[in-house]
Amino acid sequence: MVGQISGKRGLIFLFIGMAALSGCIIGPENGTSVLRERIRNRIITSNLNHPALGATGHLVRWNTPIKVNTNNIARADAAIDRYGRLTNGLIYFTKTTDTPTNGIVFIEGGSRNADGSPGCGNVTNTPEPSVYVSYTFDNSYALNGLYYVHLGSTACGDAQEGNYPSAIAEHELGHVLGIMSHFSGFTGNEGLRNSNMFAVIYNMYSNPIGSKAEDLNIEIVAVPSG
Ligand SMILES: [Zn+2]
Repeated sequence: MVGQISGKRGLIFLFIGMAALSGCIIGPENGTSVLRERIRNRIITSNLNHPALGATGHLVRWNTPIKVNTNNIARADAAIDRYGRLTNGLIYFTKTTDTPTNGIVFIEGGSRNADGSPGCGNVTNTPEPSVYVSYTFDNSYALNGLYYVHLGSTACGDAQEGNYPSAIAEHELGHVLGIMSHFSGFTGNEGLRNSNMFAVIYNMYSNPIGSKAEDLNIEIVAVPSG
C-alpha cells in the first residue's frame, strides 16, 4: 500500500516535473532570445552600421578609461559616477580639469536642436554652440577626438526636463560613447537607468572593440538600483 502510493506519487511528480521543466525552458528562453536579438539589432543599427561612424560593420567605441572634464557641473559628475557604478566599472572615466586631446568636456548651456534652436542637450566638436558633430576613430575602431556635451540652453533646463537631474547628461554621454541613433528607451529624456539603454551600452562595452555583428555576445543584464 505504502509502496503503491509512493509509486503513484513518483509518477505524478515525474509528469508535473517534466511539464514544469519544459514550461520553464520554452517560456523564458524564447523571451530571452527575442530580447537578445533586439539588443543586438539596436547595437548594429545605432553603431556598427551607422553612417555617422562610417558604417564599418565593426563595433566602434572608446577604450577605457575615458578622459572627461565635467567642469564641476553637478549633473555631469552624477552622470559619470552612475556609468561607473551601474556598469560595475565596465565603463569608467578619468577626470581631468584641462581639455583632453581625446575625451569629453561638459559645457553648461549652449545646447542646440538640429534646426539650430536652443535645446536640452547636444554633442559638438567645439565649445561654441553648434548643430554639427563628427566622430573619429583609429584603425582598431577605437573612438578618439574631442567632444563637447552641451547641457541645457536658454530654452531648456535639462535637469528639470530629464526623467531625473542627470538623465539628459547620461543620454548625451551615450551618444559620445557610440550610440548614434535613438530607440525606445533612448529618445532623449531617459538616462542610463532605462533598461533598454543600459542593455545597449553595457553590451557595447562588454564586447571587444572592432567586433563584427556575428561575433557580438549579448548578455541580459538587469539595471542595478542607484
Ligand atoms: Zn539623443
